[in-house]
Amino acid sequence: MLINRTAVHTTISSFMMHLFGLVLALSGRRASATRFPLLIRAICTTPVMDQSKTGGKSKGILERLNAGEIVVGDGGFVFALEKRGYVKAGPWTPEATVENPEAVRQLHREFLRAGADVMQTFTFYASDDKLQNRGNIDPKKMTGYNVNNEACLIAREVANEGGALVAGGVSQTPTYLSGKGKEFTQKEFQKQMSVFMENKVDFLIAEYFEHVEEAEWATEVCKATGLPVATTLCIGPDGDLHGVSTGECAVRLVKAGADIVGLNCHFDPTTTLAAIREMKNALDGAGLKAHLMTQPLGYLTPDANKQGFIDLPEFPFSLEPRVCTRWEIQEYAREAYKLGVRFIGGCCGFEPYHTRAISEELAPERGFLPAGSEKHAPWGDGLRLHTKPWVRARARRSYWENLKPSSGRPFSASLSKPDSWGVTAGDQELKQKSDATTDDELKPLFSHSK
Ligand SMILES: [Zn+2]
Repeated sequence: MLINRTAVHTTISSFMMHLFGLVLALSGRRASATRFPLLIRAICTTPVMDQSKTGGKSKGILERLNAGEIVVGDGGFVFALEKRGYVKAGPWTPEATVENPEAVRQLHREFLRAGADVMQTFTFYASDDKLQNRGNIDPKKMTGYNVNNEACLIAREVANEGGALVAGGVSQTPTYLSGKGKEFTQKEFQKQMSVFMENKVDFLIAEYFEHVEEAEWATEVCKATGLPVATTLCIGPDGDLHGVSTGECAVRLVKAGADIVGLNCHFDPTTTLAAIREMKNALDGAGLKAHLMTQPLGYLTPDANKQGFIDLPEFPFSLEPRVCTRWEIQEYAREAYKLGVRFIGGCCGFEPYHTRAISEELAPERGFLPAGSEKHAPWGDGLRLHTKPWVRARARRSYWENLKPSSGRPFSASLSKPDSWGVTAGDQELKQKSDATTDDELKPLFSHSK
């Protein structure tokens, strides 16, 4: 069963909604399943209407944000689909839209069920130069057009099942990292843009930029379409990789035309929120207005340097001990909301249950729980159904909120030392290259990393 925000409001009886609001008002805080288990369960089991039968045109991204609504973003497709066997770690490109569309469709559906309001096209790293970098995809078998077009069709199909918006997404390019300049870099974005326009996406997300300059160029191309633009950098509180402060980056992106600015990927929720605070302060200081957006990692990275999690030695195949719990994500959602962020989602490491945690934490403000909560009573309340009494004893918020989870690895350190090679745009090792990396080319890298 799929959820529809409009339908939920009409389906949950007004009595329930008033009661819910009354309880929240009396408690002066968010709902707790421990305190109001029957209420939460009543909302969870409220039937919801099939979105496909409602036929209503949903509100646009800026209408929603301007009205003060919370917009829940989806999670990280490349990481989730790599684990499921549809994306190759290394290139991290989204040719699965052509090769395994059913896997992409299913992940969209899971994020929708978790309460995501935005279906971002699975077009991360889908510029032609990235798809063909280092011998990646065979252009005779598929083109950048195919990959982007299929991504749009799938995202729209699922978005229509639940009143969600479709966002066409672009990200950093090898062309920029190779130092080829503005004209060539913007050409790469323009090719994707024409596919997004053909498919009538609702808005655009330019994301995962380490250099604000490239993000500005992407924003300009997005803005020229006339659609709303969200631009996010994959940086932390220490600024971009050319040394521009995080606050200044936000100011430059708004001046370049972004309606929504923020951060995605590379850092954990806590670090990302520290960085978004810098952005917010700088925008306030400059007298600029923009909506704020955060889509952090679903991994804990307090030990990351400026380059984020890709410099951590566990990237990308041993990050599991760092996965955020659903409770940590609830905390992130609450803190982001308090900071004034209204577009709240996730990136790599974020699975649908993390997105559901955002939706559950902010259910009092949004007025509904997502369909995925039909199988998840908030704060562990479902454990009251457990056979074992000591597990039933965990059916309470205070237990999960105060638990310090063990890693199960007695010889693990809690923190690591980042690699810190300091290689960035313009460096020879980042140059675009059509042939696959050879063994001889790898040798000096292996000895460097000893
Ligand atoms: Zn990511």
